[in-house]
Amino acid sequence: MDSERNNTRIFKGIGASPGIVIGEARVADRSRVVVVETSIPSENVQSEIQRFHEALETTKEQLNSIKEQITRSSGTEHLYVIDTHLMILDDSMLTSETIEIIRNDRINAEAALKRTLKKFMGFFEGIEDEYLRERSSDVQTVVERVLRNMLGKRHELLDETDGRVIVIAHDLSPADILQVDKEKVIGFVTDLGGKTSHTAILARSLEIPAVLGLEKITTEISDGDALIIDGDKGIVIVHPDEETFRDYLQHKQYYEYRERELLKLKDLPAETLDGHRILLKGNVEFIEEVPSIMKHGGEGIGLYRTEMLFIGRSLVPDEEEQYQAYAQVVRRMFPFPVTIRTLDVGGDKFVSDLNLTDELNPALGLRAIRLSLRCPELFKTQLRAILRASAHGKVKIFFPMISGVAEIREAKTLLGVAKSELRKSGVPFDEEIEIGIMIETPSAVLIADLLAREVDFFSVGTNDLIQYSLAIDRTNEHLSSLYEPLHPAVLRSLKLVSEAAHAAGISVCICGEMAGEPSYLPILLGLGFDELSMNAVSIPKVKHILRRCSKIEAEILVDQALKFSTACEVELYLQQEITTKFADSFD
Ligand code: PEP
Ligand code: MG
Repeated sequence: MDSERNNTRIFKGIGASPGIVIGEARVADRSRVVVVETSIPSENVQSEIQRFHEALETTKEQLNSIKEQITRSSGTEHLYVIDTHLMILDDSMLTSETIEIIRNDRINAEAALKRTLKKFMGFFEGIEDEYLRERSSDVQTVVERVLRNMLGKRHELLDETDGRVIVIAHDLSPADILQVDKEKVIGFVTDLGGKTSHTAILARSLEIPAVLGLEKITTEISDGDALIIDGDKGIVIVHPDEETFRDYLQHKQYYEYRERELLKLKDLPAETLDGHRILLKGNVEFIEEVPSIMKHGGEGIGLYRTEMLFIGRSLVPDEEEQYQAYAQVVRRMFPFPVTIRTLDVGGDKFVSDLNLTDELNPALGLRAIRLSLRCPELFKTQLRAILRASAHGKVKIFFPMISGVAEIREAKTLLGVAKSELRKSGVPFDEEIEIGIMIETPSAVLIADLLAREVDFFSVGTNDLIQYSLAIDRTNEHLSSLYEPLHPAVLRSLKLVSEAAHAAGISVCICGEMAGEPSYLPILLGLGFDELSMNAVSIPKVKHILRRCSKIEAEILVDQALKFSTACEVELYLQQEITTKFADSFD
C-alpha cells in the first residue's frame, strides 16, 4: 500500500487503460487452481493420459465456443487472442512434456501439467523483451483453463451481477475481458499484468479503464468496497473519504467533459486560424486500435508498426497471415490511407525465429532496414503481403532507420522484384504505391536533400532521432532528463528535414512521440510539417491547439525558438507563449 488516510487506502500500479471510474469492487475468483500431487499405479497411467487428452479437447471446444460468441457480439477483430490460446493448446511440447511426466513419474495429470507449466515459466522469466515475457500469462491462462476442466471448476468471471462493478482479479485473461458486459463492468484492477499485455491492449481498445500490476491488490480489497480507479495515473483508492471522493468526482466530471468537448472536434478540419491544413493521423500496432483512431478523428494511419505481428512467437508469420492482418487494417480505415512500416526488429525488439545473435550495441546493430536487407526472403515476403493489402484501399509503405541512399535503392529493388512476382501470378496490387522512409539517424538528416530525390515522403521518427542525435539511450530511465526533444540540435534537424522535403516537393510527417504532445504543436507547425501521427487520444488534443494557432505566428515562434542555446531556454519560451495564448488548453 502506498498511503493511508483515515480508512482510505491508496495503491499505485500501472495505468494500463485511461479514464476515471468510481464504483463498487467485485472480486472475481481468479485465484490459481490448487493442485495436489498424487502417485498413480502403473496400470492407471494410460487412463490418466486419456483424462489429460479429454481436458485438452474440452478446453478447445470451450475456446471455440467463446470465439463464436465473440464473433456474434463484437465482430472478428479480437479473435486473434483466442487463436493464440488455441495455438498454445496445440503446442506439442506442452502436451508431450506432460504425458512424459505422467508416464515416467507416475503422478496425476494435473500435477504433471503444473510441472510442465513451471518449466515454461522459468524459460519466460529469463527473457528481457517485455512483450514476449508477458506472453507467459497467455500460457498460464490456457493451462489454468485445462486444470479447471480436469478438476470440474467453473470459468465464468462473474456470477450474475446487476450493478456496475469494478472487477478485481489476480489476473484476467483476454477471453475474460472480451466476455464482459460493458454495461456492467466499468473497470479492471489486477495483481498481474503490464502495459503491453493483451489484457491491457484489449482494455484500451474497449475503452474500459484499468490499473494493472498492483501485485497483491486482491488481498487488500473485498467485495462491495467503494473504489476509485484512475487509469491514467495508475491509482486505486479504496474506501475514499468524503474529501477524496468529492475531489475525484469533480476531476472525473471535468475529465469526461473535456473528452466530450474534444471529441466534438472529430469532424472539424485540422486547420489553423489562417486556413493552413495539416493531416492528423494515428499510430497503431494492432487492428484493435483502429476503431479508436476513427473515433478520435484520425485521417489515416501514419505509422503501422508491423513488428508486433512477429514478436512473441516461435515462427515468423507467413505471407498469407501478414496479408490478412494488413488488409484488415486497410479495409477498416478505408477511404483513409494506411502507412505501413516494414519490419523494425533487432535492437531491443526480439524475434526468436530470426536467431539474432547478441550484439554489444544493439541500438546501433543489425536492426530495422539493415536486418530486412540482410534477410531478403523475409523482406520480400513482407513486401508482397503489403502490396497485396494495397488492393483493398490506400496503402503507403515506408522503411525504418535509413542511414544512406544505398539502402533505399536496395529496398526499392527488392520491392520491384516483389511487384513483378505478384504481376506474374496475376495478383492485384496498387502499381502507384507511394514509398517513404523514416528519418531517424543524424546521417539521414544531413543528406535529407539526397534522400528526398529517392522517395515520395519522409516521416520523422523523433523517438530514435533524439536518441541517436543526442546519444541518449531512449530506454535508459537514468538518462531521461537528458532526453530533450527541444534540444537545439533536434530543432535544427527537424528544420533541415522539413526544408529538404519541401524543396524536393515531397510531404513530411512526424510519427514519433513528439507529434502527440500538444505543447509542441506550435513548433512543429512553424517548422512546416504536413502531417503528424500519434496515439489516438492525442489527436483531438493536438487538433484543439492547432485550430487556435496561426501558421504565420507559429513561424515567428520557431524563428525565435531557434535562437536559444539550450533546451531549457526553448522550453521556458514555449511555456510563456503557450500560457499567454492558450491558458485554458493545457490542463
Ligand atoms: C520513432 O523512432 O520515433 C518511431 C516512431 O519509431 P519507433 O518508436 O517504433 O522506434
Ligand atoms: Mg524508430
